Amino acid sequence: MRLGVISDIHANLVALEAVLEDMPPVDRLVCAGDVIGYNPWPAECVDLVRERCSATVEGNHDRNADTPNRYSMNEMAHEGLKLASEELNEGQLEWLRSLPRSVDLADDRVLMVHDHPEHVDQYVRPHSFPKMRPYLDDHDACILGHTHEQHEATIDGRLILNPGSVGQPRDGDPRAAYAVVDTAPDPMTAHLHRVEYDIAAVQAACREAGLPSRTGERLAQGR
Ligand code: ZN
Repeated sequence: MRLGVISDIHANLVALEAVLEDMPPVDRLVCAGDVIGYNPWPAECVDLVRERCSATVEGNHDRNADTPNRYSMNEMAHEGLKLASEELNEGQLEWLRSLPRSVDLADDRVLMVHDHPEHVDQYVRPHSFPKMRPYLDDHDACILGHTHEQHEATIDGRLILNPGSVGQPRDGDPRAAYAVVDTAPDPMTAHLHRVEYDIAAVQAACREAGLPSRTGERLAQGR
């Protein structure tokens, strides 16, 4: 089975559309969380992810669509969530509240969670991928998001994958990121993809929406 994997869309509709257009044919599309936050199109991104993804897990921004003030220490996150809380209708908010913290995919062989299998909000950066092995006794692969850093590694026969961020990459490459997992081989394989999109259009929309100037600027830097 070929699994299309997206994560950390962060309300960047232009990047999400570019990824969906670029993605080769897959059997299922799944999302590792953070559909909303930061960028100007939370409602459109919720609708598109609901329509296209067969499984989505809850990201920390998704969890705070109703409670933007929890991010009052971080202006960019706070303003993005405030916009989302204003723009999302009750059905869209209800869908975000209903997202599970983790899911099992591909006949329970793949674990998908936004941050860390046990520690909420913990970042698993690429150098920490080997530390994930103890959490994978019951799975052949683990899909993570949250760091916005695209990376894959095979540790002791287990695939660990962060597809990177669709809507706000932070690994120095501003292009939108995603991955395709092939579950047939043992160990499973992941193909990492990057696609250019119209960053200037998103920056203009950020300004139009009154979001902090850094929200648009960072997209061009991939940070
Ligand atoms: Zn994120």
